[in-house]
Parts: sequence; structure tokens; C-alpha cells
Amino acid sequence: MPNEKDSPIFIATWDFGELAVRTAWAHWQEHGDFAAACIEATAAVELDPSIPTVGIGGLPNRDGIVELDAAIMRGSDLRCGSIAAIRTTCPAIRVAKAVMDNTKSVMLAGQGADDFAMQQGFERIDREAMLTDKTRSEYECWRAKVEAGQADREKMVGHDTVCMLGWHQGETVACVATSGLGFKRAGRVGDSPIIGAGLYADDQSGCAASTGIGEELYRHAVSVRISDAMHAGASAAEATDAVLRRMIERDQANITRGLSILAIDRHGGVGAATTRTANHKFELHVCRAGVFERIVPTPITS
Ligand code: ASP
Repeated sequence: MPNEKDSPIFIATWDFGELAVRTAWAHWQEHGDFAAACIEATAAVELDPSIPTVGIGGLPNRDGIVELDAAIMRGSDLRCGSIAAIRTTCPAIRVAKAVMDNTKSVMLAGQGADDFAMQQGFERIDREAMLTDKTRSEYECWRAKVEAGQADREKMVGHDTVCMLGWHQGETVACVATSGLGFKRAGRVGDSPIIGAGLYADDQSGCAASTGIGEELYRHAVSVRISDAMHAGASAAEATDAVLRRMIERDQANITRGLSILAIDRHGGVGAATTRTANHKFELHVCRAGVFERIVPTPITS
């Protein structure tokens, strides 16, 4: 068994979080680079076409086009890179890493992001190839219902983000990737690629990320709030609980919105809080020293 003190901690969201933490651990064992392990873990989820809310095979927007968001932040120097509404490159997390490493910018969006990916030598994926038979038929079914007046096109459907947090001897990294809300308005960008909202990492406090209806998480800049709470001395568990309760205090409707937040504090403590009570419960996958655990946090209900 690897020594727990020397081993990184990886945590990742939702059922596909298991793929993420197992990929991260395998990558770490082979290469010993915990930040690269987080990126490759996020990429593995993006490249799995059976996952309908992240990367290839993610649900498209209202026009039937898949638009991906992704971001990375490194806690040692606050360097970050972010990609929004990219249409022809996957995994978007690697493009976000290229923004961080190779530009003076933090975020690239839309056509500019796609062009940047080409300039960086990423493979171009045809828009059609970003869809699977399943997501194409779900889209066609949704559109037929909307046109027949049987479905509300503003109603949020099908969304989840892979949030991947890593900690190693006090160093932190946060990565996120998503296809956003299913059948979203073209160009709509949620919280995920927004530094401070969808993710934040600062070795002086820890790292944090969020998943759920992006507009609400964004409004409350949740990840930087969690980071600030941890900086002031709260553990990851205390900080995530306090930030979600504050969101609810500010707007009771947040209880019903299915919001989930997670963090690792600078001491390696793990925490998560959720309002998600429905059949699709929020789950977190944790890897500590090669030991894997699935956590289903008790939702906050009042
Ligand atoms: N936060 C993502 C977005 O709004 C979706 C999710 O995580 O469920 O795009």
C-alpha cells in the first residue's frame, strides 16, 4: 500500500467520477505528476461517448450542435486556462491547459477557441462526429416535442459536469469539463469554465468546484467563496456546507435546484455539499493512497 502521506488525493463528481479517479491514480502511478493526472482523468471522461453530459456524446444545444466548456486552475501560482463553447475539439480540458501554458489569456470562447485549438495542433473533429446516435435521436425527439408544443424549450434537461480536484503535499489543482445544459441556447456558457465560479485553486486555501444549474452557481461565485472560507480556517467540509447554506439563505428556491459543491482544503481534508435529493443523487468518488471510495453526501433540505 502506498504511503498515505506521500500520495495525492483525487476527488471527482458523479458516477463517471469513478472513471476519473481511477484514471488519475493510474496516471499518477505511471508518471508521478498529479496535475497531469487530473487533466488526463478529465479527458478520459470527455472522450467516453457514452457519457451524455461531458465531451463527445454530450447533449447538443438547441441547434443540434455540441458546445463544450472546460477549465483548469493550478493552486501553486494561480495560473489558469479556460475554454467556452468550443465545437470541434475534444477533450476541451487539453485545450484549456494549452491556454494556460501558451497564452497570456485566461479564457478563449467560441470560434476563437476552435481556431486556437487548430493552431495548437489539436485534431479537428467534425461537428456531426461530436454527436452519438443516442444524443442525435434525443435531440430530434426533443425538437419534435418543442415544435409540437409538448415540451418547454426553456426547461433545463440533462446536465452534469466532471469536476476533478487533486491535492498533493499541499499543492492543488482543479479541472472541470462539461457540455453544459442539454439543449441550451447556442453560446450559453454556465459556471464551469468561469474561474471563481465553476472552479478555483489556491494552495494557500485549497481547491473547489461546482456542478448543477450553472446560472445559480455562477451568481454566487461559489468556488472562490469556498476558497475564501478555507483560507479563513474552515475545513473543506465546513466551507462547502456554509457556502451552500448561504446560497439557500439568500434564495430559498436554491433548495430545489440540484446544486453540488466540493473541495479539498490545504491540509487534504475533503468536503462536499448538495441539495440534490432526486433519484439521480449527487455522488463523489475519492481516491486516497490508491484506496477508492464512493461518497453520497446527505443533502441539505431546509
Ligand atoms: N454547471 C453546468 C452548467 O451549468 C452543468 C452541471 O454541472 O450540471 O453548464
